[in-house]
Amino acid sequence: MSKQPRPRIGISSCLLGNNVRYDGGHKKNESLIETLGSLVEWISVCPEVDIGLGTPRLPIQLERDGEKGIRLVMPETGEDLTDRMARYAIERVDILREKRISGYVLKSKSPSCGMEGVLVYDGNGEASAAGTGMFAAVLKERMPHLPVEDEVRLEEADVRENFIVRIFAATRWLELEDAGFTLAGLTRFHAQHRNLVMSHDPIVCETLDRLLRDVENERMVLPESVGRYEREFKQALADTV
Ligand code: SF4
Repeated sequence: MSKQPRPRIGISSCLLGNNVRYDGGHKKNESLIETLGSLVEWISVCPEVDIGLGTPRLPIQLERDGEKGIRLVMPETGEDLTDRMARYAIERVDILREKRISGYVLKSKSPSCGMEGVLVYDGNGEASAAGTGMFAAVLKERMPHLPVEDEVRLEEADVRENFIVRIFAATRWLELEDAGFTLAGLTRFHAQHRNLVMSHDPIVCETLDRLLRDVENERMVLPESVGRYEREFKQALADTV
């Protein structure tokens, strides 16, 4: 049996214990490191340090600004960091894609890294938990099929187990891609994962069966089926059973 490849996983640097937070500290998550650390290769990223804010630094936050939409700002100085962070995030995410990451663990609640429910302030200083961190938003937009979780959600056993399943499946998908997609390769991949998909979503499983039959019978070309297969497969696994 071939050796399981070790998934490369992006992670908010402070979760690994690096002193990169605005207050000079970290948010080391021991249980996360213990559970996943031996299975994966971490690629740590701190967007705020990378755009040159330094450590320690003044805190930043998301603010709603009328027509301009949601901005990333440093309230004490009034500096608007939105464009700087957006430019950085696009470049960094593209590099992470080239490094073949197959998952990402984000720090919850951060205006840069939070994946959901991040506080967004209005002009009166009132906040609602309605935003996505600016780096996280770019990550999700540019790598829509990437398994992404935060450290709080990963405390739930079913979410954690499913994340592990998804990152290994995503790693095997990358291997398939790197080898060059063929019908034989896709058929082998499907046979290997069919029961898994069935346990998540029997309807998607039938759709994928049909997709492969369509390619075999030349009703669909391989490149078209690959895109659809990836989307349906990864979406089905994203739903916890
Ligand atoms: S949450 Fe993100 S930006 Fe903030 S310290 Fe951690 S890695 Fe850096």
